[in-house]
Amino acid sequence: MSLPAEVRAVVSSYLELAPGLPATERNLAAMLKRIEEFGNYRILHATATVAASTVIINIGGTKKRPVLVLDVFEARVRGDLGPSPVTVFRSAQPVTTQGLLTGMVEVKDALARLSRGLCERCALEQPPLKRLKATGMPSCIDCAISSAFGL
Ligand SMILES: [Zn+2]
Repeated sequence: MSLPAEVRAVVSSYLELAPGLPATERNLAAMLKRIEEFGNYRILHATATVAASTVIINIGGTKKRPVLVLDVFEARVRGDLGPSPVTVFRSAQPVTTQGLLTGMVEVKDALARLSRGLCERCALEQPPLKRLKATGMPSCIDCAISSAFGL
């Protein structure tokens, strides 16, 4: 059951995106406006010596049905000339403040899972697959299901 918009707005006003940064409609609207202005918004914190994950936010979809697409890439150092980074998580949301908030929550969860490393079983596939481990599981959700059947 989804909550009415008024209730979601009240709940959202009590959430914090970060310490001292409340998830108010005003703050989310300002962030969404900035992302829309850029068109391809990149969050890069890697340095030449310290690897970090990259998050890229795009407005995709069609003109009639635009979609806010948030991609998480595995950690790399800045200037890494190896193979192109692989998207390990994608969230597609409506281009609204609620969509941005939902995408932020999903990306934060994905980054936390990424910090536990990628699925080792998928890494053994040919070619190797890069999948996030499922929350509370030692592997990705598909490998967890296979393991549950002893496969
Ligand atoms: Zn797997």
